[in-house]
Amino acid sequence: MRILVTGGAGFIGALAVWRLLDLGYDVCVVDNLSSGHRSALDRASRLAGRPVEFHLCDVRQTSQLISIMQSFRPEAVMHFAGLKSVAESVACPELYYENNVQGSLSLVQAMLQCQIDRLIFSSSATVYGANGVPPFGEDAELGPVNPYGRSKWMVELLMRDICSAHPEFSGIILRYFNPVGAHPSGLLGEWVQGSPNNLVPYVMGVLQGRFDRVRVFGSDYPTSDGSGVRDYIHVLDLVEGHVAALNLPKGLSVFNLGTGRGYSVHEVIQAMQSVSGRIIPFDVVDRRPGDVAVSIADPCRAHQAMAWKAERGLIEMCQDVWNFAQCSPKGYELE
Ligand code: NAD
Ligand code: UDP
Repeated sequence: MRILVTGGAGFIGALAVWRLLDLGYDVCVVDNLSSGHRSALDRASRLAGRPVEFHLCDVRQTSQLISIMQSFRPEAVMHFAGLKSVAESVACPELYYENNVQGSLSLVQAMLQCQIDRLIFSSSATVYGANGVPPFGEDAELGPVNPYGRSKWMVELLMRDICSAHPEFSGIILRYFNPVGAHPSGLLGEWVQGSPNNLVPYVMGVLQGRFDRVRVFGSDYPTSDGSGVRDYIHVLDLVEGHVAALNLPKGLSVFNLGTGRGYSVHEVIQAMQSVSGRIIPFDVVDRRPGDVAVSIADPCRAHQAMAWKAERGLIEMCQDVWNFAQCSPKGYELE
């Protein structure tokens, strides 16, 4: 089976590419390298012992996508390409609507033109409304509170309409909770340049001496220790969810990819201390605007429909992140 992967040079995409190659799929990657790295693909290919086809291409370039699809003839598309910073989306919403919404529309147009009818889309738990009560089932009320989340929601609506109009189409929406982790070899993981927004990359930055202390946002949430609680999922479990989605029937499907279990910020810091054997200094500061207290998935639907379940726990996620930092201290640089 041939799979086209957009955004395959990024954090999650490169791990998906590795896994697909490893399972024997032929893979073609389309990426504009705005945040991804060509060397991540080289590493994925080396780890799997199989080649990957790469096209430096923006998903908004519909005609270029069509010619790539006509030549590669994929049976399915995994669509990871997009921008993902909530803060940046608030500052520059137009970038997010253009990259994430316009980019996805362009991809769907190319797929329809080339009669490729299976699309697996990276959505996010940020589409759930702030007033819902966790754990969130897929039918919980939606209502994202920032442009990033709204861009994901719009693509979900687009996919819903495409599936209604084209009964041969399979549109699979995967709502990720908080992906963390790396390949156990230490060769593939998340490499954030500059100051990361997400908790685990920031904690890693402190361990690497790039930042002095972690700021724990909030001490008065209604949680066990007052800090925010999230459903962290190992990126390799997430990737297995995409592989399982390749076998779903036609029509629209929506799945949460999470573990169903939440951890507080202090529990994550504690886990990173225990795998690294180092003390991680932190300050408790005010809440970060826009954060919810608790975000946890109800992952039952994915279990029932795809026999998929997250297998790895928080310690394994932290161990793999720490190992990636040790093995690749400069990320994908120097190659
Ligand atoms: P990433 O930034 O590491 O990877 C995104 C990749 O897409 C990069 O390689 C980038 O160069 C490429 N890209 C961006 N815009 C493009 C365009 N217009 N055309 C072609 N390529 C483009 O991000 P990631 O963490 O791997 O996330 C992958 C997907 O998962 C994104 O859509 C993101 O919104 C979604 N997601 C991520 C998280 C998370 O915490 N990492 C959570 C929920 C959803
Ligand atoms: N967080 C924190 N300090 C940081 C970054 C994040 O305390 O430097 C907290 C944040 O308030 C939330 C949790 O860690 O409760 C996860 O945040 P992240 O940005 O990783 O994911 P998201 O908020 O998008 O779920």
